[in-house]
Amino acid sequence: MRIGMIGLGAMGLPIAKRLLGAGHELCAFDLSPRAAGEAEAAGARICPTAGEAAADTEVLFCSLPNAAIVRSVLEEILGRESIGASVIADLSSIAPESARKFSEMAAARGITYMDCPVSGGVGGAAAGTLTVMAGGPDQAFLRMRPLFETIGRKICHIGPVGAGSGVKMVNNYLLGCNMAAAAEALVLGAKIGLGLDTMYEIIRESSGRSFIIENKIPNFIKKRSFEGGFAVDLEYKDLGLAVETAKQLSMPIPMGSTAVQMFEAARAKGFGRQDITSLLKIWEELMDT
Ligand code: NAD
Repeated sequence: MRIGMIGLGAMGLPIAKRLLGAGHELCAFDLSPRAAGEAEAAGARICPTAGEAAADTEVLFCSLPNAAIVRSVLEEILGRESIGASVIADLSSIAPESARKFSEMAAARGITYMDCPVSGGVGGAAAGTLTVMAGGPDQAFLRMRPLFETIGRKICHIGPVGAGSGVKMVNNYLLGCNMAAAAEALVLGAKIGLGLDTMYEIIRESSGRSFIIENKIPNFIKKRSFEGGFAVDLEYKDLGLAVETAKQLSMPIPMGSTAVQMFEAARAKGFGRQDITSLLKIWEELMDT
């Protein structure tokens, strides 16, 4: 297939490599010459603009930082006289409301927009083991499914457009709240004299367990390694999507609102590009542990 790809960052580049590895032709665009250079080295044809990456392709993927950037890219593509791609699969994490708006914009040009956020991180993108949460019409999902299977292991058609972003938003809401709670709980435990190994061994088998306990303690917290992983800035954005969506529904979400402030504190400390476990360092410093 001839595939367009906009956004070749931490997720987009390994996804592009998986698609190239499966024998597809890839026309790619990224504002960063370094990212574009890496995709070119992997066999992609680099286009000078996003519009050109969509012009001569059958389907288009986007993997972009936020909805404002997705919108600007879509406006450029949809404003062109001729658009080759008939399906746009947006892998970015955005609010369901944004996805529905983008679907209307695309439909006005006869193009199907699908929100297809992913989970599984950079490692999952490289290994082709992402979870793909697709929202959009059945026909477009069936057409895209073989491509989703190239990049992911669990491929789910969640429902109409917006549904994929919705389930991703709820998942990342819980991730952010779990991380914020774990940062407090682990420092509280340390303060009363419990070792990290003890807390890990017991809690991973007990009712307080979560992805943070099972995965983040051994891979980040225990190693005191906060580089890579899932960035504070990205989780801050994802929590913000949930807080904003709840506000539109006049629904109080005090857990999420508090977690946002904890992520804000981590950003103020300069941990924005570090893994979300760096929240712990704020409470360690506060409590001198
Ligand atoms: P990233 O910042 O590493 O990559 C984004 C890329 O988009 C960059 O290369 C940037 O140069 C490019 N870009 C920005 N504006 C552009 C524009 N106008 N035109 C073309 N390219 C542009 O981000 P990422 O970690 O790859 O995340 C991408 C999306 O996937 C985000 O929505 C994120 O929330 C989501 N996500 C990330 C992870 C993760 O672990 N990193 C996991 C799941 C989902």
